[in-house]
Amino acid sequence: MKDLYRLFPEEMEQLVLDMGYPRYRADQILLPLYYKFPKNIDDIPQLPKKLREELTTNGYVIGSAKETYRVVSDDGDTTKLLLNLENNTSVETVLMQYSPSKIGGHPRSTICVSTQIGCAMGCVFCATGQMGFETNLKAEHIVSQVIHFAELLEQRGEHVTNLVFMGMGEPMANYDEMIRAIRILTHDRGFGLGQRHITISTIGIPSGIDKLAEENLQIGLAISLHAPNNELRKKLIPTASSHSVEEIIDAGRRYYKKTGRRVTFEYVMMAGINDSSKIATQLATLLHGNGSHVNLIPINPTAGDFLRPSEERISEFEQILSNAGVNCTVRVEKGTEISAACGQLRTDMTNFSK
Ligand code: SAH
Ligand code: SF4
Repeated sequence: MKDLYRLFPEEMEQLVLDMGYPRYRADQILLPLYYKFPKNIDDIPQLPKKLREELTTNGYVIGSAKETYRVVSDDGDTTKLLLNLENNTSVETVLMQYSPSKIGGHPRSTICVSTQIGCAMGCVFCATGQMGFETNLKAEHIVSQVIHFAELLEQRGEHVTNLVFMGMGEPMANYDEMIRAIRILTHDRGFGLGQRHITISTIGIPSGIDKLAEENLQIGLAISLHAPNNELRKKLIPTASSHSVEEIIDAGRRYYKKTGRRVTFEYVMMAGINDSSKIATQLATLLHGNGSHVNLIPINPTAGDFLRPSEERISEFEQILSNAGVNCTVRVEKGTEISAACGQLRTDMTNFSK
């Protein structure tokens, strides 16, 4: 089975040329794929019947990821889908909508995409990490997550505005498929999303960050730091030992220098673990003066017994960073009651009943 959502526009062109058809037939496939969301090749009536038949005979399909479950938060702002892939595997993907009255400026429809089923990094506070690693997603499965929501939004006269790689899995551990998906999603003959509207969140793999900096893409980078020293970080991220906090911050610095895009450091806050004033001061010293931004994420409930710090603790931590000149915000989480927030994605059906 070969999914047409896997192909770069240039590859689509080559495919039709190789089949003996003129170049323009590629656009007759690409336009509906990214604007009409057909489910089958036969749903593209402008293509000659013979070409549709030949594509099917050659094993091409459209959208190998199928929606099996959908759950919407009480306020209607968050939607989580379970998509079934080939081999009966499933992945979760989330849409978060922010109205202008809540955030100021323009309304945003952000999709939180997954790159893997499960994750090998094993972060002790993350439901995906606790599942272990199952498999890497193919580029077409990453693209399909966006397409499913694009169709849902189009029915309401809305569209996808932002993409964050903050769903299940570690994007850098599935680098090639992630980049293929990004190139398709940002191609002006593909989905056409602006590069600046995309953010990749990584646990901090310096070689991956350096590679990304060389891609000539204007995408944002978020690095999950969670601790200002190696000892504490290793307790939270058991696989973190191969790269020190300093190496990771240096990689962020290089990314900023090369791309001009500001790097955000994500920091999941856990009561009594990484939320003390002493740790805040350590973090401030570490990040001071390199123009970075810290996003504090009060932990969302998962199976582990970590607790959110109190509001006072969070604002004190924030204040210490701000006073040291480190730009800092606290993330407003959405969809916790449907287990759709950061770190809550896993794939079992109970996750789809509230
Ligand atoms: N693997 C990547 C991207 C997916 S996780 C990464 O770790 O960056 C996206 C974000 O969710 C990360 O910053 C991660 O630390 C955060 N996260 C994980 N578990 C969480 C939890 N229980 N509560 C709040 N945020 C969590
Ligand atoms: Fe993997 Fe990110 Fe979860 Fe850690 S936080 S286990 S890296 S998905």
